[in-house]
Amino acid sequence: MRRHRNVKIVATLGPASSDRATIRALYDAGADVFRLNMSHGTHADIAARHATIREVEAEVGRPIAILADLQGPKLRVGTFARGAEEIAPGAAFRLDLDPAEGDATRVCLPHPEIFAALRPGASLLVNDGKIRLGVDRCGADFAECTVLVGGTISNRKGVNVPDVVLPLAALSAKDRTDLEFACDLGVDWLALSFVQRPEDVDEARALVGNRAAIMSKIEKPAAIKDFDAILAASDGIMVARGDLGVELPVHSVPPIQKRLVNAARAAAKPVIVATQMLESMIESPMPTRAEVSDVATAIYEGADAVMLSAESAAGRYPVEAVSTMDHVALEVEADPAHHALIAASRHVERHTIADGIVAAAREIAESTEIKAICCFTQSGTTATLVARERPRVPILALTPLVGTARRLCLAWGTHCAVVPPQERFKGAVLQAVRVAREGGFAELTDKVVVTAGVPFNVQGTTNILRVAPCDERLIQRSEPG
Ligand code: PGA
Ligand code: MN
Repeated sequence: MRRHRNVKIVATLGPASSDRATIRALYDAGADVFRLNMSHGTHADIAARHATIREVEAEVGRPIAILADLQGPKLRVGTFARGAEEIAPGAAFRLDLDPAEGDATRVCLPHPEIFAALRPGASLLVNDGKIRLGVDRCGADFAECTVLVGGTISNRKGVNVPDVVLPLAALSAKDRTDLEFACDLGVDWLALSFVQRPEDVDEARALVGNRAAIMSKIEKPAAIKDFDAILAASDGIMVARGDLGVELPVHSVPPIQKRLVNAARAAAKPVIVATQMLESMIESPMPTRAEVSDVATAIYEGADAVMLSAESAAGRYPVEAVSTMDHVALEVEADPAHHALIAASRHVERHTIADGIVAAAREIAESTEIKAICCFTQSGTTATLVARERPRVPILALTPLVGTARRLCLAWGTHCAVVPPQERFKGAVLQAVRVAREGGFAELTDKVVVTAGVPFNVQGTTNILRVAPCDERLIQRSEPG
């Protein structure tokens, strides 16, 4: 069964969606990538979900990507004697390292590294940004604050410190354990939360090696400032609008989303737009008009993928949420304005032979009756270069490496197939047209574009572009060795 859309759908799994029937139903409804959130669930839960996804993958006979999302350095306050307190605007409130239970005037913040980095004038946001504290005075183990926006503060609520680059290790002890666990299980993508510097990505990559591709979640102001270097260090990007909208004014998120999507596409790296896309579907079988519009906007912008979090992990309508995204995608991508917008935001820098070949492949495919662009790829790079072109015709990524096929499930417009390793170009062309016909992309009388690198099985050699008939007999007759 092939997909009839280009944008990909990422569905987070959780208590509402972990049995085999639901995972299969999510796949059938359109989920291309499953996200395992390491912030929730035990290793046993995660392993069970992973095994079930691989069973469904074997059942449907098509690669499925698994994305493990590390919790990252999430900061929290301590506990209160009464569990919770009301704090009012204008009141004084103190944070310190004293582990004693808190009251209406103070609470423990068990993170010495925050106190070391704080400066008077900085803000601390508590409970998803609902409470705002302004720092007046601070030292190595305390911060005296004024309540700027009040509310209820309660046990272990999360704390965001947007104005300072925190000298926090990118990976907590829990993250390191989770990272090894996820890599041992065999995930395709590993997402890093609260990335602040390109070095954070390098640090994770040193541990991950080639076991998974690395996605940086952009959810800190520091990451926006250093975005180009973080993008260069990463294999993919997530516009993590949940924390981003807490760390920055929420109205600054849409232009940032546009900028990040464009930059990631220009770098030929997959980009996911995430969080609250269909939030109301946690409780309701119908999305709001605004949510449908939000999903549509991400697709018009050219994002590689749109994501569901609580909607599919813990909501009442996980399958309906995926099919809502699928329907929106089909409608948007059928709109001529969609293609015009995507074409207008194409970047035309050409540096390498591969860049030139994929650009030519798109131009030939779009100006003639070509049915698909078939690209042989080892690392997946050629396929992401074709995806960057956002061609009007489907992209078939053919690779002998199942890991490459799975990672590419996140890339715009890419249909992946695992094929035997090729030795000769003629064999590759025969293989490509077979996959195109069997997948329903082309018929016997059609033509496809085939790109490959000769010699085969060497990374980064894409150097051939061929327009091939889909009839094997014609290929046998016309194609040299
Ligand atoms: P989270 O990341 O769901 O892990 O917090 C996504 C976001 O912040 O948007
Ligand atoms: Mn987040």
